[in-house]
Amino acid sequence: MYKTAVRRAGESAFLTDGILNILAWERGIVMAASDDQIHEECGIFGVLGHPEAATLTYLGLYSLQHRGQEGAGIVSAHDGDLRRFVGVGHVSDVFPTGKRHRLEQLQGDIAIGHVRYSTFGSSTLKNVQPLAVDYARGSMALAHNGNLVNAARLREDLESQGHLFHATTDSEVFLHLIARSQKERFSDCVADALTHVIGAYSLVVTNGEELVAVRDPHGFRPLWIGRLGGAYVFASETCALDIIDADWEREVEPGEVVVLSRSGLESFKPFAPVASKSCIFEFVYVARPDSVVFGRSVDQVRKQLGRNLAKAAPAEADLVMAVPDSSNQVALGYAHESGLPFDMGFIRNHYVGRTFIEPDQNIRDFGVKIKLNPARAAIEGKRIVLVDDSIVRGTTSKKIIKMLRRCGVKEIHFRISCPPIISGCHYGIDTPESAQLISSHMSVDEIRDFLEVDSLAFQTIEGLTSATGSPADGFCLACFTGNYPTPIPAEFKPKRSPRRHRDHSNEPATRD
Ligand code: SF4
Repeated sequence: MYKTAVRRAGESAFLTDGILNILAWERGIVMAASDDQIHEECGIFGVLGHPEAATLTYLGLYSLQHRGQEGAGIVSAHDGDLRRFVGVGHVSDVFPTGKRHRLEQLQGDIAIGHVRYSTFGSSTLKNVQPLAVDYARGSMALAHNGNLVNAARLREDLESQGHLFHATTDSEVFLHLIARSQKERFSDCVADALTHVIGAYSLVVTNGEELVAVRDPHGFRPLWIGRLGGAYVFASETCALDIIDADWEREVEPGEVVVLSRSGLESFKPFAPVASKSCIFEFVYVARPDSVVFGRSVDQVRKQLGRNLAKAAPAEADLVMAVPDSSNQVALGYAHESGLPFDMGFIRNHYVGRTFIEPDQNIRDFGVKIKLNPARAAIEGKRIVLVDDSIVRGTTSKKIIKMLRRCGVKEIHFRISCPPIISGCHYGIDTPESAQLISSHMSVDEIRDFLEVDSLAFQTIEGLTSATGSPADGFCLACFTGNYPTPIPAEFKPKRSPRRHRDHSNEPATRD
């Protein structure tokens, strides 16, 4: 079930025309779970006009860590030259306190950063962003959150014309398209490149002079603009603005290109207008509850999800508890509405990084246990309402239920924050293929029996959309309905398929 890759500790640096690249990897056994969970996607951050741009970006990435734990990196711009430091692991693995020099060498008043979960392309170092290249007009670096559905076709076309690709991530396509554009201004080249792509993207791109931020025309992924004194900041979520005390200015609008330069901010909308389709799953699972995305507080939406669940699916029980963390607010909302007490029936280990040693022997349910442990005294002999954000394959839920039963829980009434997931996401959230989703081939009653719970209820689509307080037609609901807001090209492959080529050797994945 679990795969391991051993990487040697080290660091290498090389200089191409305008980009100082430093790649880092840490000694450790990387545990990659082929597990049963929805995974986050990516987080992006950008600063222009602050002498400590890289340090601000480092702090911002810390706040966005929940959006991706496989890799992190920062590119800064100093006198027009780009400096890049990327590595696998958490932000704290890539920029550990004992290696300040990694951050100190990222000088300049422009920086962009990225935390990665690989929704497309393998999880190797070469795919860690920001990506940076030299091209005919200079250098540029890019950080992308989202997933393109026509990247494979574009890549094939570009390769047939002689383009050489360095990574396997869909994000690299952007760089080639920008480099080919004949427009005069950098920001126009970015906008021109984006006319070729279909799918989800929130981007920050810099050529060392300008910092350009874009949200795709449907606005699948969030992107905020903040101010810190005279500096401008871009961040996937407001929690990353809070950590550096930046003021929240506004969200980048769907289809908007925002250009920051020494002369200030300008904005234009080069794409034909289409309906907004923000990812509603940001509210259910992805975004942090202390963030505001798509104009709404994630905390407030989650509590309303819980209230809606309690109204639609009440239960005779002694307490309400959550599978932490993304369900905490939903369980609180359920408890408030139902009048039942809320209790912390599970304790989550917050110190689980991505590098820990897999046990030699087959320890039962290890993957779940290392993260969660029931607080036996709180739940023994009780009838509980258990709230979780979603059910994917159902195997993790089954293990969680078993753990609770072993603690002597009397009844389990399982309540799910979102409707049944029946289709995979093509826009940047890592879900299994549709056939592997338990709700694609089992009814609610069948899932209840499979999980061995006393009752099971999912959120309705109406309950989900109404909790946001925004019009339902402004959201993508494709994983619950199978209706995708964009065309899905026939050649589109499930986003995880390139992982077949994952490098499990005991060498660093790449030295570029
Ligand atoms: S398919 Fe689901 S997870 Fe993907 S963008 Fe749409 S709502 Fe979000």
